[in-house]
Amino acid sequence: MSTSEAWKYLEPKIANIQERIFELEWEPSRRNNFVPYKADGNTAYVFVEGQRLLMMSGYGYIGLNGDPRVVAAAKAAVDEYGTGTPGVRALAGTIPLHEELEREVAKFLGRESALVFSSGYAGNVGVIGALVGAGDTIFLDKLDHASIVDGAQLTGATLTRFRHNDPGHLDRRLEATAPGGTRLVIVDSVYSMDGDIAPLPALREVCDKHNALLMVDEAHALGVIGATGRGIEEHFNYEVKADIKVGTLSKAIPANGGWIVGEKILMDYVKRFARPFLFSAALAPAQVGAALESLRILDREPERVSYTQREAARFRDLVQQAGFNTGDTETAVVPLIVGSNDKAWDFASALQKGGVVGLPVISPAVQPHMARLRIAITAAHSRADIDYAIDSFITAARQTKVLEG
Ligand code: PMP
Repeated sequence: MSTSEAWKYLEPKIANIQERIFELEWEPSRRNNFVPYKADGNTAYVFVEGQRLLMMSGYGYIGLNGDPRVVAAAKAAVDEYGTGTPGVRALAGTIPLHEELEREVAKFLGRESALVFSSGYAGNVGVIGALVGAGDTIFLDKLDHASIVDGAQLTGATLTRFRHNDPGHLDRRLEATAPGGTRLVIVDSVYSMDGDIAPLPALREVCDKHNALLMVDEAHALGVIGATGRGIEEHFNYEVKADIKVGTLSKAIPANGGWIVGEKILMDYVKRFARPFLFSAALAPAQVGAALESLRILDREPERVSYTQREAARFRDLVQQAGFNTGDTETAVVPLIVGSNDKAWDFASALQKGGVVGLPVISPAVQPHMARLRIAITAAHSRADIDYAIDSFITAARQTKVLEG
C-alpha cells in the first residue's frame, strides 16, 4: 500500500484527531523536542549533530550517569541474569536482585518495606489504584505530576484538586467531603517545573485532622533535598512522616524504574493489587544492578548531595541578581520564567547557539505566560560549567529581550 493509499484508508477512522495531526505537521522544526542527545561519558556535556553542548536541563542530580562503578554493576547484572526477565514479577519475573534493591531502598529511606516497579509512572498508577477506588476521595495539589493525575483518574474515586502548596485550602476541601471511604492526599515533594517544596509538616497536620493518608512523590527529592539526599522528611528534620513515599530510579539514580516505600503490611497489600506490578514486565537486570550500585554510592558519598545543594544555591542567587524570574524555587530545579511560549523557544535557540542546552517548558505543561527554561544543577556540573552557563543565559536573554540591556 502506498503512503497516500494508507492515509486514505486511515483518514475516515481518525477524523477527530486529524486537526491535531495537521497542526503538528506544520510546527516549525525548531520546536522539535525529540532531538537525540549523545552522552559525553560521565560529564554534563552532550553531543547534538556533532556539536558539544553543556546540558543544563538534565535530571542526573548527583552526577552518576556513566559512573564506571554503576556501569560495571549494570554489566555484572547482565552477565549473571541476562538482558530480560522471564516474566512479570508474580510469574517467574522476580530475580534476587529485585528483592535486594527493595531491601536497600527501604533501608535507605527508613521504612519497613519497599516495592520496585518498571517506572516511576507505573509506581504511581499502581499504588494509587491499589489504595483507593469508587467511594473514596483523592486530593491532589494543582501542580501534581501527570503520573499521579493519571493514576488517580483510573481509580473511579472522586478527584479533588487543591491550590498549589496551600494546606489551608486542602483543609477546606477535606472539611467539605462527606465522611466515609479512604481519603488520600498526594503531593510532589519537589515540584518538577518549579523547584519548590511541599510544606510537609502543615500537610501532615491537616491530613491527621481529617484522618487522611498522605503520599509524597520524591522523584525530584531523592538525592536532592535533605542533608544526605533522603528527601522531604529529612529536609524537615524528620519532624513528621508521610504514609507512603514513591519515587523514580531515573533521575538522581541513573537507571529506570520506580519505587514505593511504607509499612510492610501496606506494601504486601499493594504487591497483590497494583496492576502495573502484576501485569507489566519486571524491571530488567541491568536497571536493577545500576540502581542498587547508585543507591549505595548515594549512601556512601553524601558530599554529592551537599555539592549540588551548595552550587544550586549559588546559581539561584546569581541568576536572580542578573534579573531572572525563578519563581519560588528552593532546590536544584531552577526555572527561568520568560513569559510566552515563543519567547521561551527563542531564548532556548539563542542559548544553544552559544553552546548550552536549556530546554523550554511551555503551556499547556505550565500556565500560559509562564513558559520557562527548566534548568537543573547537578553534581556533574563543575563550578566553571555553571559560571559559563550563567554568562550564556545572560547573553542569550539579552539577545532575545528576555532581559533588558
Ligand atoms: N513523578 C514525578 C514528579 C516525575 O517528575 C516523574 C518523571 N518525570 C515521574 C513521577 C515518573 O517517573 P518515571 O520517569 O520513572 O516514569
